[in-house]
Amino acid sequence: MSLSNAQTRDIETLIHPYTNLAAFRETGPVVMERGEGIYVWDTSGKQYIEGLAGLWCTSLGYNEHELADAAMAQFQTLPFTHTFAGKSHERAIELAEMIKEISPHPTSKVLFCGSGSEANDQQIKLVWYYNNARGRPQKKKIISRKRAYHGVTVATASLTGLAPNHMDFDLPIDRIHHVNCPFAYREAEPGETDDQFTDRLAAELDALIQREGPDTVAAFIAEPIQGAGGVLIPADGYFAKIQKVLDKYDIYFIADEVICGFGRTGSMFGSQTFGMKPHSISIAKALSSAYLPIGAVTVGEDMYQAMLDESRKIGVFGHGFTYTAHPVCAAVAIKTLEIYKSRDIVGHVQHMAPVFESRFARLADHPLVGNARAKGLIGAVELVADKATKRSFNPAYKVGATCQLNAESEGLLSRALGGDIVALCPPLIIQEDEINEMFDRLERALDTTEHWVTKEGLRAA
Ligand code: PLP
Repeated sequence: MSLSNAQTRDIETLIHPYTNLAAFRETGPVVMERGEGIYVWDTSGKQYIEGLAGLWCTSLGYNEHELADAAMAQFQTLPFTHTFAGKSHERAIELAEMIKEISPHPTSKVLFCGSGSEANDQQIKLVWYYNNARGRPQKKKIISRKRAYHGVTVATASLTGLAPNHMDFDLPIDRIHHVNCPFAYREAEPGETDDQFTDRLAAELDALIQREGPDTVAAFIAEPIQGAGGVLIPADGYFAKIQKVLDKYDIYFIADEVICGFGRTGSMFGSQTFGMKPHSISIAKALSSAYLPIGAVTVGEDMYQAMLDESRKIGVFGHGFTYTAHPVCAAVAIKTLEIYKSRDIVGHVQHMAPVFESRFARLADHPLVGNARAKGLIGAVELVADKATKRSFNPAYKVGATCQLNAESEGLLSRALGGDIVALCPPLIIQEDEINEMFDRLERALDTTEHWVTKEGLRAA
């Protein structure tokens, strides 16, 4: 295969995240050029449906001029100012007010940052700060879940429960523990009901806290739907049971809304869809429809009071990024939230969800698909060698990754996750005919993959 000039220059210059850097030297990149609505085009002119909204983030699609105009207006007025040492600006104030208004828990203040990883990193720092302020210096451990994805900084990669984020990075760091995730298809015992399964998960959490000592456990963090871990949708009642345990031991509950926030699951926040009552949420991605990098954590009054106490003691809240509440990013986020409201994006997702979910349900009949799951406008299929026994393919065959490539040939960008799981999470503006076109492309990719699996005899145990 001959590589284009841009592909060759790329190979010689860039390190690509989440890429097999060695294999990539042979294939080179797909170089993207432009986008419109739910579609993007590469430099060869090939069109794709952006079936993962980039990285679960471009909620308003690829040519939302109002966002570009909001950025340009701010660039021309005040392209940068900051919020350190008592300085402020109108965009930061306005955006914080908007977030407080829609937050799924009583929110006193908003602390901005640049990404989902930074948001969760801030969460850890705040929890440690809080417990020092409250005279509980031993209460510092944080419980996350297997297959969680919370970011890639040293601390948030530690929260993440996926092996490649830990291996040879010498992670996780101390004080972070992982419990099992509510993934019934793989983790429930044969014959176990949802109720029994979620009882068992809550008991496991309780036992871990007891083992570690309740006065050493500070917080629990959870995505409403675990995205990068495989689009794992908890059964009804799971979070209620988990919260009961957290309340018993006075454990701070952080909802990572970085994917689920802003309509993805059919409510403004995943916390509302799943009846979660967090003390704080982390947001990023769709906060600005990913047009510019911005994230935030919400701060409840109790946390804020503890931060005030620390400021009185230390003399300063010693945290903040150069780009905390960057005015251009904030201006774009304000416009994004305005559009969500004026175009009733959450209502649109509720309207589209039955189409999306029923097309996923249909995929369950495909010979390759062991499990198909979806909620709102996020879903995945899990490809298996044997549907009856749920036996996985040998990972070396890369069946999921091959399906993703076949989808790309069909003009669909999806995401192959570990365990031969192929995910879809399209821009929230997607229309019914576009959803159907997206699934038609995925079905053709699954058929091609099935043909290849059969021809190569990849089902042999
Ligand atoms: N939390 C969740 C649930 C995510 O899905 C992601 C990224 O995919 C992150 C945190 C990290 O966000 P970022 O990549 O912006 O650092």
